[in-house]
Parts: sequence; C-alpha cells; structure tokens
Amino acid sequence: MSRIAILSALAQEQHGLLALLLQPQKVQRAGRDFWLGHLHGHSVVLALSRIGKVAAATTATALIEHLAVTRILFTGVAGGLAPDVQVGDVVVASSFVQHDLDASPIFPRFELPLYGRAVLACDEILSALLFQAARDHLAEASAAAPARHRVHRGLIASGDRFVSAQAQSVTLRRALQRAGHKALAVEMEGAAVAQVCLDYGVPFAAVRTISDRADDQAHLDFATFVREVASQYACAIIGRALRSLSNK
Ligand code: SAH
Repeated sequence: MSRIAILSALAQEQHGLLALLLQPQKVQRAGRDFWLGHLHGHSVVLALSRIGKVAAATTATALIEHLAVTRILFTGVAGGLAPDVQVGDVVVASSFVQHDLDASPIFPRFELPLYGRAVLACDEILSALLFQAARDHLAEASAAAPARHRVHRGLIASGDRFVSAQAQSVTLRRALQRAGHKALAVEMEGAAVAQVCLDYGVPFAAVRTISDRADDQAHLDFATFVREVASQYACAIIGRALRSLSNK
C-alpha cells in the first residue's frame, strides 16, 4: 500500500491539512510528531520538516526509514527571486539547488560533492500534478475574486538563510546565474529533502507559495502571508493533487 508524506516547514502551513485528516494517529520519531491518517482516499503522513536543511533532511529520513512512505510532497512558502515571481504567485519546483553549498575550487560552486551535479530534479509526474493543481486552484480563485497571480515551474534554491535584503537577493540570483542556474524562488528546506529522496529513490515534488520578495520588506510580508493565506493554499493545492492521483 502506498503512503504519501505531506511535509510543511511551519505549523501555520500545516494546520488546515491536519484539520482534514481522517483517523488521525500520532507517532513520534526523532523528536518529531508524525500524523498518520487518510486524506482524499490516500494513506498519508503529515509532518513538519522544521526549518533549515539539516532539520528537513532528518524529517525526510525518518519518514522513509520509519514510516515507510513511498512518495513525498512538500507544501510551503518561499521568497520570490526572479523578477516576475511576485507575492501570491505559486512556484512548483522542477528541480532544486543548494545555494549555500560551495566546495570550490575542489568542486564547481554549488555542486554536491561526489554526486557530480548541482541540480536535483523532482519527480516529473508528481511535479506535473502539482503544477496542474496549482493552475486549477488559481483559475478558480481568480474567477471568484479577480487577481493576477501566476503559477511558475522551475528551479528553487535552498539554503540556511532567510533572505531578507534586496542586496542579498540580487547577489544570490547573480551568483546562481553565473553558474547557469535560473532560480525562481528561495527557501530553506527543499533541496535537502530532494537529496535524501535521491539517495533513497523516493519520488519527490514541492509547491511553494510566494510569501515575500526576499527583499528588505521580506520579514513583514512573510509574517502576514503565513498568518493569513499559507494554510489555505496548502489545503487547496494538495487537496486537488491528491484527488487526481491514483491511490495504487
Ligand atoms: N521566525 C520565522 C522563521 C521562518 S523562516 C517563523 O518561524 O515564523 C522562513 C520559512 O519560510 C522557511 O521555512 C523557508 O523555507 C521559507 N521562506 C519564506 N521566505 C523566505 C526567504 N525570503 N528566504 C528564505 N526562506 C524563506
């Protein structure tokens, strides 16, 4: 029987999904709470990755080793990095890079030592499913209340830093660009989960709603967005994706 993990970084992103969980059962591992149950006909586990790459890697490993998950989806918020990625837009990851990984000059900047690559691809089928779910959700939401939010699909950069200054964001985007990486958004967990999933051969995909522009305003925009809308996006997009996913 397949079991899907649904990870979020923050409790505010998770509480809506938790409220919908049928037959919830709490299991504790690695100092974390894992919620087993059923959602839209699927056997699922809801978990908080916690914040940052190491915490997220521990959570992903515990999900695979102890809770026998067969697929992992991540839903959360991120800072917009590319100029056209605005607050309220949705970014579905096609791949991840760790923007703070630098073992140069031994390895090229951003390359994962001994993996022979910097970019970790997401599962194509799951990523396409999240993309469609996000587009359908935004189309329906804008029919009710017109808004110009967009859904993007592409590279997301992860690192152990909340990017909250325009200068930092520009430097980061340019450094990635020089190495041939066009990052749409920045967050703190995705690439770590992607690496664990690559190691174990577990399909992984992620959707992030843009809470801020990773600029001087980021801390204020982030707090408001997380409080007011993050959970609704998570419920709506993950709900749609699960409903259109076969539960074999
Ligand atoms: N004190 C905050 C810390 C949140 S850190 C709190 O607990 O409320 C920011 C979280 O949102 C991380 O999980 C990260 O993945 C994501 N995020 C949103 N905007 C970001 C940005 N501009 N830079 C890095 N991560 C960001």
